[in-house]
Amino acid sequence: MPPIPGSGLAKGLAVTLRTMTKRTVTAQYPDVQPELPPRTRGVIGLFEENCTVCMLCARECPDWCIYIDSHKETVPPAAPGGRERSRNVLDRFAIDFALCMYCGICIEVCPFDALFWSPEFEYAETDIHELTHERDKLREWMWTVPEPPALDPGAEEPKEIAAARKTADKLRAQEEREAQEAREAQETRETQEAREAAESPEDRSDRAAEQEGQE
Ligand code: SF4
Ligand code: SF4
Repeated sequence: MPPIPGSGLAKGLAVTLRTMTKRTVTAQYPDVQPELPPRTRGVIGLFEENCTVCMLCARECPDWCIYIDSHKETVPPAAPGGRERSRNVLDRFAIDFALCMYCGICIEVCPFDALFWSPEFEYAETDIHELTHERDKLREWMWTVPEPPALDPGAEEPKEIAAARKTADKLRAQEEREAQEAREAQETRETQEAREAAESPEDRSDRAAEQEGQE
């Protein structure tokens, strides 16, 4: 059947009308900042205090875009007679975001929780070399990492928190014990001083003589 003249125009107008009444989804970036989901993969932050230079992230990165340099340092023994230890010291940690494909493998494999996703994404550059973020820049991203979401009610407590609580409890108990001992020593001293103050001069000279006799 031949098309009715003007039906295409009517269909087009219908689409226009339908679209005009819908809520717009276009974000007016950069005037309006997008509302990103909390687990957005924007950039990677490095918490270098946790990094032991195990190289696992660099080895597992499919793009080979993590660059790590380090040297070994000898640490004196913790106790007299102990053995010296050697540890790795980080000299360079960089990620080339021009190569990174945001797979997150480095973050997943890091056994020491030194790498984190940050939702920050505004780091476009006109020079591609600037997309290699060195250690200091990666550390700055760390402060933009959002807090982890709250645990589900009834979820098992993470072992790191349980271990930290155990250590804190132990320290608190030790401090309380020391404070109690100090209180008891103070009370004994005060009782002794009060007893001595209450003694008559004769009693005092008798006690002194007794002590001399014992010596
Ligand atoms: S996110 Fe993936 S590609 Fe990017 S640095 Fe980590 S492992 Fe490499
Ligand atoms: S895997 Fe973690 S601890 Fe090991 S080198 Fe990478 S960031 Fe450091």
